[in-house]
Formats: sequence, C-alpha cells, structure tokens
Amino acid sequence: MVTVNHNYLKLPGSYLFSTIAKKVKAYKEANPQANVISLGIGDVTQPLAPAIIEALHKSVDEMGDAATFHGYAPDLGYEFLRSAIAKNDYKDRGCDIEADEIFVSDGAKSDSGNIQEIFGLDNKIAVCDPVYPVYVDTNVMAGRTGEYNKERGNFDNVIYMPCTEANGFLPEFPEEVPDLIYLCFPNNPTGGAITKPQLQEWVDYANKNGSVIIYDAAYEAYISEENVPHSIYECEGARTCAIELRSFSKNAGFTGVRLGFTVVPKDLVRDGVDLHSLWARRHGTKFNGAPYIVQRAGEAVYSPEGKAQLKEQVGYYMSNAKAIYEGLASAGYSVSGGVNAPYIWLKTPDKMTSWEFFDYLLEKANIVGTPGSGFGAHGEGFFRLTAFGTHENTIEAIERIKNL
Ligand code: PLP
Repeated sequence: MVTVNHNYLKLPGSYLFSTIAKKVKAYKEANPQANVISLGIGDVTQPLAPAIIEALHKSVDEMGDAATFHGYAPDLGYEFLRSAIAKNDYKDRGCDIEADEIFVSDGAKSDSGNIQEIFGLDNKIAVCDPVYPVYVDTNVMAGRTGEYNKERGNFDNVIYMPCTEANGFLPEFPEEVPDLIYLCFPNNPTGGAITKPQLQEWVDYANKNGSVIIYDAAYEAYISEENVPHSIYECEGARTCAIELRSFSKNAGFTGVRLGFTVVPKDLVRDGVDLHSLWARRHGTKFNGAPYIVQRAGEAVYSPEGKAQLKEQVGYYMSNAKAIYEGLASAGYSVSGGVNAPYIWLKTPDKMTSWEFFDYLLEKANIVGTPGSGFGAHGEGFFRLTAFGTHENTIEAIERIKNL
C-alpha cells in the first residue's frame, strides 16, 4: 500500500498568502466599488531595466541560430555569470569567494528550501521568530522537527529565537546550541538589519560550536547604512561556518524571471565532509541548470548600465519605504525597518491582533498588508507593509491610513 510523507501532514492549514488572497477576494466581491491597494505580498512592480531587456533579446536571438544555440546549461551555472558574481558581489567587497564556490539556481526560495537536504535529520535547527516560513516548513517536510504545537503556535524540536521590540528585532544566542542556524539580513518580515560586529559574533559562535549558519541575503541591495554587511563573508572566519543565499528577485526584479545563487565555501567541513561537494552532488543530480537566457540577463545586472539602472530602481522602492515609515510614524504608529530593507514592521494599535488589524485596514482603508502572526508566534501584534508598490499607490495608501 502506498503511504505518504506524513511529515507534510504536520504543516498547519492554509498558507498565509492564500488566506490573505481569499479574504481580499471575498471583500472585493462584496464591495466591487472599493479601490483596494495591496502593500502585502513581497512582489515587485517595476518592469525589468533596459540593460536586462537588451541582454534577454540578444540571448533569445542566439537561441534561434544553430551557431549560437545553447542546450542544457552547466548544472552549477555558466562561468560568465559565476565570475561576474564572484567579482562584483564578493571580491570587490573584500570577500574571499571564488567563482567555483558559487552555485547558480532558479532563486533563493528553492535554495533555502533545498539546502537542508545535505544535512542529517538529527540536526537541530534554529530560526528567528518571526521568520520567512520556508526555512521551517521545509525542515518539517524533511522530518527534522516535532509536531505543530497549537497552543504555542510553532513546532516542537525547533529552536525559536524571538525577535522582539525589546531586543531590537535581533536574535539572541539560544540556551541550547543549534546545529543549523538560519539568519536572514536585511530581514523579512521585520525589515531589520544586523551590523558587522553583531554578525561577527554569530560567526564566532558558529565556529566555536561547530554550527552552520545559513545566511539569506536576498535583500542585500537595499542596504543603505555603512555599518551593515552585504555578505556574511565580510566577517572573519565565515568561510568555515557559513552558506550564503542570494536572489536576483528583489535587486533586479527577477521574481518572474527566476535566478539566484548559493555560496558554499570549500573550507566548510562538517562530519569530515566538505559541504561544497555535497551541495554540488545535490545540485547536479536534481537541478538541470538555470536557463541560458536568464543567466545572460543576470550577467547584465553587473554591467555598468545595469548597475546604474538598478540603483535607481532600488531607490524608487526605498523612497516608498521612507514615505511609509515617515507617514506611519507621523500618524503615531510605532514603526521599524524600511531603512536597509523594503519592509516596514509596525506595531498594531490598541492591542489589536495582527489579523484584527488586517481586517480593520482592509475594511476601513481598503489596504492590504500582511499580519505579523503569519510569520511566527512573536509576530503577533505586528504587521508588515512592503515598499514594492507603485509610488502613487503607496502615497495614496499612507494618506488613507493617516486619515483613519
Ligand atoms: N528569501 C527571503 C527572505 C525572501 O523574502 C524571499 C522572497 O520573498 C526569498 C528568499 C525568495 O526569493 P526568490 O524569488 O529568489 O525565490
């Protein structure tokens, strides 16, 4: 008899964004005249930059000519892209990362979900609370956690590191030493950032205890402050304890194009095995390469024109972030984030729960955001707004909130 993977059955009900979509759909059906503005889901709205479109057109034409056609891509990524990443994202920032330590993929969601596969099921994971849900859910599916505890609103056998107002939304070292530590900075959902000395403490902690840090830097392009590291490899000793995940989704608008990469330094050894060779084996066996066309588009992200255009695009979103932050603060809300990340994290007023505030904003201002409790138990009482809307919609949304 066929059995299923019972670990999947541990995952509670419906996924955060599908619940939001259902509520919004029902509201729009009941109120067809309402002009609902979404500052909810973390998808971009600006079109691809001209330098990227040009690279896409050129590579599409190459695919139409037998002399320049490309079939299967090398499963770890084309050399032209891996070299551009190593130079621009690492060497130019003083990080000791080589092109052959970079694994090109179709995005950070897949990589952040798949990376746990190279580790034993007996490893204990630590995550921030609130957290990007993929880290936890994929470990649940793999069987690395206990059951879902309804009362606590999280899983047994996972180390949760609360990120609260009291600790400035930064995790503290847990009592029990974890094996795998997921860190994401700049952070989704809180929009918070970590300074280099603070991250150095985590690197030292991981090296001392033999833990591995899985560092998600998907929002690196939004960093505006000098003391905030763009990569964990800016910290001394990170080559022996950290894996870094990156995405082209938010720096270059590739959410629908799909491209990302993972860095596994060759010095990272656990259980007598170098993790670089394990990830290469996994990637080579289960992934057949990101499309040639898309990797050429990724290369254009690093061209002088691409860099200038994307700086402007990130600036566009960050001016939205500033407008949201300042608008909410002037309306008396307690707000954080929005300086090194496209997310604003606000405390719900009048002790409303996150979902109560969701309904209130939807009904009274026709604005959609994301309830903080959807990201973990310690997200309760908070709410996430994103800067990825159009400027006009963002300004209109903030005016509506101010007038409530
Ligand atoms: N990591 C974090 C923290 C994210 O917030 C997201 C997307 O919202 C991703 C990864 C996924 O990125 P990608 O589009 O490259 O799959």
